Amino acid sequence: MSKIRIISYLIGEVNNKCIKLILIFLLLKTYPCFATNNLIININDTKILLEGNFVQGGLVKGKTNKNLKIKFKEKILRKTSNGSFVIGFGRDHPEQANLYFFINQNWVLKKLNIKQRKYKTQVINGLEKKMVTPPKSFWERIKKENKVIKEIRSLDSNVNFIFQKFDWPTKGIISGVFGSQRILNGKPKRPHYGVDIAAPEGTDILAPTEAIVRMAENDLYYTGGTVMLDHGHGVTSVYSHLSSLNVKVGDKINKDQKIGEVGSTGRSTGPHLDWRINWFSERLDPALFIKE
Ligand SMILES: [Zn+2]
Repeated sequence: MSKIRIISYLIGEVNNKCIKLILIFLLLKTYPCFATNNLIININDTKILLEGNFVQGGLVKGKTNKNLKIKFKEKILRKTSNGSFVIGFGRDHPEQANLYFFINQNWVLKKLNIKQRKYKTQVINGLEKKMVTPPKSFWERIKKENKVIKEIRSLDSNVNFIFQKFDWPTKGIISGVFGSQRILNGKPKRPHYGVDIAAPEGTDILAPTEAIVRMAENDLYYTGGTVMLDHGHGVTSVYSHLSSLNVKVGDKINKDQKIGEVGSTGRSTGPHLDWRINWFSERLDPALFIKE
């Protein structure tokens, strides 16, 4: 982790192109899950192409004939008019993923191998109780906010922005990685699903692709100023702890359009952007979306 932090810091500082490339190479070596794979599945006369990260937290993009029905996790996958679709594998996805194709009136199973990751755990003891569990007076509010977030994450929108190339939403130092988990006073907390990018308060946050704004809230309990973007096909991205917002719900925004500024609102210990990506209820690793 600290190695990733140092290297990503240096990449921002160094101007020499050649040294920059070496540093990017080192970063990729340190973060080995960046590798994408291709897979071609042939069933009778039907061909299915899959490309992406077959790993926990990874997203795979597929292409096949536009009329083929595909099922994953009891869900019929949305396809574009040219037969493209996406599948995501959550943080704790088991080693095997079952993908079903409806061919000749039958569901044909194809098993995919999903690479398992090891996540960092951090044990912290002797914390004040109120730091570990939110006070009871906030529970109702937290429940309400979580319900709205859950509804947005269940959207299966008919826009195809997910097939665009993703860029980092802000520049800074990676101070937290996907999947890590803290054990506070012996209680395992929810894993950290975001990539934390530490940057000065007021740093611009830009949309990584075109998107539709589904949430623009100034003050959520955990995440403070929060923007949720919809990239289509069940993929949403979340930007937390913002000091100010530049978009409103329903806006159709362009790639690189400013959505807000880095801050430390909500439960946060310093200015940083917490960037998350979901495929429906599955948590994905935003770092895997960036292809250098
Ligand atoms: Zn975070």
